[in-house]
Amino acid sequence: TSGYKAPNTEGSILTYKAKYDNFIGGDWIAPISGEYFDSISPVTGQAFAKVARSTKEDIDLALAKAQEAKAKWSCTSATERSQILLTIADRLEKEKEKFALSETWDNGKPIRETLHADLPLAIDHFRYFAGVIRSEEGSASELDQHTLSLHIKEPIGVIAQIIPWNFPLLLTAWKIAPALAAGNCVILKPAEQTPITVMLFAELIADLLPAGILNIVNGFGPEVGKPLARSPLVDKIAFTGETSTGRYIMQYASEYIKPVTLELGGKSPNIFTASVLRKDDAFLEKAIEGFTLFALNQGEVCSCPSRALIEESIYDEFMSLALDRVKQIKMGDPLALDTMMGAQASQEQYDKICRYLDIGTAEKATCLTGGKPYQNEFHPDGFYIEPTVFTGKNHMQIFQEEIFGPVVAVTTFKNEEELKAIANDTQFGLGAGLWTRDMHQAYQIARSIDAGRIWVNCYHLYPAHAAFGGYKQSGIGRETHKMMLDHYRQTKNMLISYDKNPM
Ligand code: NAD
Repeated sequence: TSGYKAPNTEGSILTYKAKYDNFIGGDWIAPISGEYFDSISPVTGQAFAKVARSTKEDIDLALAKAQEAKAKWSCTSATERSQILLTIADRLEKEKEKFALSETWDNGKPIRETLHADLPLAIDHFRYFAGVIRSEEGSASELDQHTLSLHIKEPIGVIAQIIPWNFPLLLTAWKIAPALAAGNCVILKPAEQTPITVMLFAELIADLLPAGILNIVNGFGPEVGKPLARSPLVDKIAFTGETSTGRYIMQYASEYIKPVTLELGGKSPNIFTASVLRKDDAFLEKAIEGFTLFALNQGEVCSCPSRALIEESIYDEFMSLALDRVKQIKMGDPLALDTMMGAQASQEQYDKICRYLDIGTAEKATCLTGGKPYQNEFHPDGFYIEPTVFTGKNHMQIFQEEIFGPVVAVTTFKNEEELKAIANDTQFGLGAGLWTRDMHQAYQIARSIDAGRIWVNCYHLYPAHAAFGGYKQSGIGRETHKMMLDHYRQTKNMLISYDKNPM
């Protein structure tokens, strides 16, 4: 197996600094408290760099810089901003392998994923918004012979962006590309579990943006995320993370009536109808692969297909094939190119998943495979868990609560009515998968599922130009797609009278 050398070892393409300061006002600024915290690689369980442990004072500084910069930046032309986004994409593409390695080291996900998904998707996101912003237009209408109404889109101002640890670089791209394209300034707070790749990214592009346009401040949620979200100098909050944290963010936003977009948790159903099963054909193969995608990114995906709903008549045969496939998921060294599943992102997340494995057993779900930690011979102290398949009933905790690990809870349905009832019996509404050869059935079922994204005969595709976001308690607003530019702009109506006569 060819693989990548761990950072800072001889021959590696990646070297880290011992510590990372905040990126504020175009400079590298030490935290005012002087404190740093360890960043741990889940691959090995060892600390590999230190990061600024910021507080409200650092946020105040970043906000002052952003407020200072915002008037000038909002007046730049779309062409100018577009060009900067294109250059960001080009630089990232040139350093793709280095960033893929860093993302694996920082988050634990296998290098084949960071190389083939995280990096290309992040790069494409900058290119997409570079294009979209140049095609944007307002509207003009003649209200009567003497009166013109113009609709002009203006940036909102200074945006607080708070992200989680499951796709550190990709979610940075999802957040900052549209916000900058629309002419806003940004204060980004990466997750405390995975701050390092984002800081390498800041180094990569530091000279491209005028000072104060993009600021990155690290630290813990209550110490730095909270004062950021609460500040009167923030004009809008864009948050991705847990639904429980999202509730706090809405409270903070309410203090100064700030607009807020939330990308939160999920418990997405992956539905397999009877027509899927037909001996030995490519579609069946694809559907079985679709089942295994609960383990993609170690299950740490908000839209993870963490519930599988299988039509009763095909259950035995389908599950037998699906289990064979799950057992082929290759675990091992995340730096090896053929490893399919890597480490969970942190000790805390590893512990949480282990607790849910116990809960599943306690509530008498049946474990068909996995159900325990994986002993990784390459990295014995990293955070590895086997892909796990439980069967049970939809009222169980493992069906209702977001585990955010490589665990799927499987149940059956008898008919479409029961299928819809089970699929929608959840507080979440982020994603869903549907596998059928009958496109009439596909349309009818897809329309009846309460979720912001339904993949039909596919799963886990995230193109920049398709809208992604949640129904119900999975969020407010959308990410990706040009429609999200509207989350980063406000509409000014200019009503002009050309009539010389008195009103
Ligand atoms: P989290 O809510 O614990 O943390 C997310 C971010 O919020 C971190 O940067 C954290 O420091 C910060 N934070 C925590 N408490 C805060 C507070 N009181 N005020 C301000 N900021 C605070 O979530 P997590 O565990 O890092 O991430 C996993 C969650 O993210 C899952 O629920 C997952 O479904 C969700 N997620 C959703 C999407 C989506 O697009 N819908 C994408 C990725 C992840």
